Amino acid sequence: MDICSMENCNKPIKAKQLCSMHHQRMLRHGDPMTVRPRKEKIKATCKWVSCTKDAATKGYCAKHYYIQRVMASNKG
Ligand SMILES: [Zn+2]
Ligand SMILES: [Zn+2]
Repeated sequence: MDICSMENCNKPIKAKQLCSMHHQRMLRHGDPMTVRPRKEKIKATCKWVSCTKDAATKGYCAKHYYIQRVMASNKG
C-alpha cells in the first residue's frame, strides 16, 4: 500500500498522494503543511508625531496618552 507523500508521514494515501489528514489540510488551506493560518498581530505605534513607541492606550504610548489627555482637558 502506498503511503502519504508528506515527509515524516506514514499514513496510507486517501487521495492525491496524501493521507486523509494531509488531504484535508490541502483542501482547507491549499497546502498540506499548513496546520492553521497564522494570524499576524498588527503592531500599532504611538500616534504622536515622531514617537515610535508601541501604542498602549487609544493609539498613544503611556507617556503621550497622558500628555494628550492633559492637553485635551486644558482646552476647556
Ligand atoms: Zn500524511
Ligand atoms: Zn508616544
